[in-house]
Amino acid sequence: MMNKLAFITGASAGIGEATARLLASNGYNLILAARRKDRVDALCQELSATFGVKTAPCIFDVRFKEQVFNAIDSLPDWCKEIDVLVNNAGLASGLSTLDKGNLDDWENMIDTNVKGLLFVTRKLSPGMLERGKGHIINIASIAGKEVYANGNVYCATKFAVDALNKGMRIEFSAAPVKVTGIYPGAVETEFSIVRFHGDEERAKKIYEGYDSLLAIDIADAILYAITRPAHVNINELIIMPTAQPMPGIIHKKS
Ligand code: NAP
Repeated sequence: MMNKLAFITGASAGIGEATARLLASNGYNLILAARRKDRVDALCQELSATFGVKTAPCIFDVRFKEQVFNAIDSLPDWCKEIDVLVNNAGLASGLSTLDKGNLDDWENMIDTNVKGLLFVTRKLSPGMLERGKGHIINIASIAGKEVYANGNVYCATKFAVDALNKGMRIEFSAAPVKVTGIYPGAVETEFSIVRFHGDEERAKKIYEGYDSLLAIDIADAILYAITRPAHVNINELIIMPTAQPMPGIIHKKS
């Protein structure tokens, strides 16, 4: 396991941060990407000090291709041969019917969840394909498999991630570069705070009355996928809280 190098987007919080912690504890060197430099720098320092792995911060807004490309180009030499890319940066913004939708929310979700994932993949996949080695993990969502009321544009972006996940697998598996899609249900992270534009009270209610998934549950699935033998690819994993059989239904304790 030693010396493998993982690049994780959205590493400053939630699923990305939990994945960084779990991979570091399993000996992976890490490139951690997000916009919040203070958080990423602190996490890099902590993981290097605790687990003795190499870490590099990579600060960019995934919506802007120049930022993505320049930040990756500026990484030190030891960061060039990436074994695992976790395309995790993403968000839901707003929750309303389409006719009342906020156009800025739509653009933010489409630019982050679809275009951002494409920019990072476009930059990092050629090296993996040239080396004939690598694994891309795309964090989609159960919202990329089933549509729920008021989820319209978020669901559309995650259906796009589902399509890209399948497309990448067709195009990259001959190299071979593995491609895995992870489709979580409700995970308690900063996700709902972001969706509700900072309304923490409203966000808290999303996770009340049942046991939601934790970020570590998804990190654990990512570690599972990337540690299978060379001939085994995990195409997709749909991971739900036991209390959430499908989007829109959560069995809450009253
Ligand atoms: P989170 O706690 O809000 O973390 C989101 C991460 O994405 C943060 O590190 C954030 O970093 C980064 N990010 C957001 N916009 C970005 C941008 N424009 N440029 C660069 N980085 C950006 O949410 P999470 O639950 O861990 O979400 C991670 C992924 O899981 C997302 O793709 C989400 O759609 C998916 N997912 C979440 C759930 C859930 O219930 N939580 C369910 C299914 C799927 P900065 O703000 O520092 O840039």
